[in-house]
Amino acid sequence: MKECLYCGEHSFEDSFSLRRWANGFYCSVKCLNDDISEAKATINYYENEIKDSRNQILKYENGRSNLSKEEIEKIEEELRKARSRHVATLQKLTHMESLQKLNKLRYKESEENTVK
Ligand SMILES: [Zn+2]
Repeated sequence: MKECLYCGEHSFEDSFSLRRWANGFYCSVKCLNDDISEAKATINYYENEIKDSRNQILKYENGRSNLSKEEIEKIEEELRKARSRHVATLQKLTHMESLQKLNKLRYKESEENTVK
């Protein structure tokens, strides 16, 4: 891992990988702090999305929805994705906050300690 977890280049999906995070590093305290703020916003976002999807599914199950079965299946798929991203971000946030407390910029001390 050569790039900062926050300001370095990485894909959207990568940001939900705990393993990628654990093997990475931050180039500065500012990047760590910014990533913590972003993680909190992401958690909030998915919490709302999960709540919203659940309501729509519940409405459908109670026969009070105008959505089709296909549309509900799509919402269920989104709900699964949102849940796993929500959990991954919560786990990352816990680790980020421990880095912040320990005043460290990487989770793993060195490449030699990296579990392969
Ligand atoms: Zn950075």
